[in-house]
Amino acid sequence: MPSANRHDLFAAARPLRAAAATDGPPADLTAKALEIHRRLCPVYGCPIPYFHSLDPLSELVSSLLSHRTRNADSGRAFKALRARFPDWADLLAAPVEAIEETIRGVTWPELKAPRIQAVLRAVEARHGGLSLDFLGEMTVDAARAWLEAIPGIGPKTSAAVLSFSVLRMAALPVDSHHHRVAQRLGLIGPKMDVGPSHPILRSQLPADWSAQDLYDNHEILMLHGQQVCHHRKPACCRCVLVDLCPSAQVAYREP
Ligand code: SF4
Repeated sequence: MPSANRHDLFAAARPLRAAAATDGPPADLTAKALEIHRRLCPVYGCPIPYFHSLDPLSELVSSLLSHRTRNADSGRAFKALRARFPDWADLLAAPVEAIEETIRGVTWPELKAPRIQAVLRAVEARHGGLSLDFLGEMTVDAARAWLEAIPGIGPKTSAAVLSFSVLRMAALPVDSHHHRVAQRLGLIGPKMDVGPSHPILRSQLPADWSAQDLYDNHEILMLHGQQVCHHRKPACCRCVLVDLCPSAQVAYREP
């Protein structure tokens, strides 16, 4: 990560502080969210290339595999599933033990195997086929509501399906890194869970932002959590957001 001049960082924050003095809390948080985006984008290289080009149903299966699992392990499990069950109908008809064996590299394969089958069964029952391509004809809110009506699909998964798949819709996923960084920065409260944080964090960003803008916002906050704002020991000494952050280690705060 490029080093940042401390003086420049404080100078960049001044317009934000001026706005905060006259605006109420929502406008203040919107200004702060935009400033965070503005500073992190050059650090992590916006626009960030999409890492998947899967159809939305495949993205849903991939997302269900990824919960509490390293990306490399869930990626391997997804490839193994595709190799063994080239059609999702084959997976639906398979014994659950065969699925569990195929995805044994992920966390909780004994729970994820029946859940994937149940979700696919629900999609087929509600839509009449094993496809989610039709979501691309809906608004983001309607598509998310359709997905979240299926047991086992929450806000993070619904947003991931719409954003990461070839639908490339304007939804904002929030993973555990993104959530932790947003909490430390004061964009959301210290007790707010990941699920309810989705509409709050989305509301702080412009309504007309494109799918790429929202994808970038998710990715840069996630990457910042992975590379700088670590879970155990955040590296505030090299964080470009230190003057905006109420959780910054005292030694790095503005005097
Ligand atoms: S200043 Fe520290 S706690 Fe705040 S976002 Fe940066 S690394 Fe995280």
